[in-house]
Amino acid sequence: MINRRQFLGAIAAAMAAVEAKAQSTTAPLWDGPMLDIHFHLRQGLDANMVHMEGCGVTNAVLLAHATATEQVKTIQAKYPKRFVWSASADITKPDAAEILTKAVKDGAQGLREIKFHVEADGPELRRMYALAAELDVPILVHFQEVPHFEGEGVFSTGFKRFEAILKSYPKTKFIGHADAFWANVSADYANEAAYPTGPIKRGGITDKLLGDYANLYGDLSANSGNNALSRDPSFTADFLTRHQNKLVFGSDCACQDGHGGGVSQNNNPVAARMSGKCVARETLTILKQNTRPAVFHKLTWENGHKLFKIKA
Ligand SMILES: [Zn+2]
Ligand SMILES: [Zn+2]
Repeated sequence: MINRRQFLGAIAAAMAAVEAKAQSTTAPLWDGPMLDIHFHLRQGLDANMVHMEGCGVTNAVLLAHATATEQVKTIQAKYPKRFVWSASADITKPDAAEILTKAVKDGAQGLREIKFHVEADGPELRRMYALAAELDVPILVHFQEVPHFEGEGVFSTGFKRFEAILKSYPKTKFIGHADAFWANVSADYANEAAYPTGPIKRGGITDKLLGDYANLYGDLSANSGNNALSRDPSFTADFLTRHQNKLVFGSDCACQDGHGGGVSQNNNPVAARMSGKCVARETLTILKQNTRPAVFHKLTWENGHKLFKIKA
């Protein structure tokens, strides 16, 4: 038996899906197919597609735990050629490399968002950087120096020292993501806020590393990526053009319907600017406004395909 609240919830979800479907059958929102490389696996066979159709995204890299092989395969079977998989495991445990190697053998094409309370140049992550090179898959790292709420902690700390890692692991394809990666587009960032605002001081570490190291890519997802692209309009177009072969669209959106329904940035009070909005829509809008069509296509499709070795 389901109760009245569950029943109403189910109806609302079904109606949102129908509405999303109706919109998807009209003209595509973005003049072409879109690949979202930062899409956390949702529960339910169709929940992933409901979000994507709502915001005009056609394909996605599903970020899912190494134990989710069967779930990912079921979704891939229902929606052929729409989803590839990037896998994670607890990198603080000794069997992480073994688990991730198996996941890649089972079809994973990346090491997904790695987000643990460790240093970016500490032993746990160094093992993963070496493993990514060995397995020849990209590794996506969440860098965060400022907690969003009491008790959250910080993740992959020490981004300002990351150049040494890029030098030490030339065969590893790094995908930088989250607060510290994006806050460091500005040269004056001193770990004072999760999402600094205002004009960007040119010559930031992230900008420099993207230019100097062939093995570093930038994941444009989440409030962090969106904030970096919207805080200083005089910076955006030139930045996207300069790094047009290194930046990749992702959403990290948690909204339900691709229209901002539900919560778009889970557990993150300091990302309130995104409440009621779909991060995918917001970021795609900025990308579209600040690029030529050929560059937009690279950021939203070609670069992600190359990086994850996805056959179109
Ligand atoms: Zn993240
Ligand atoms: Zn969304």
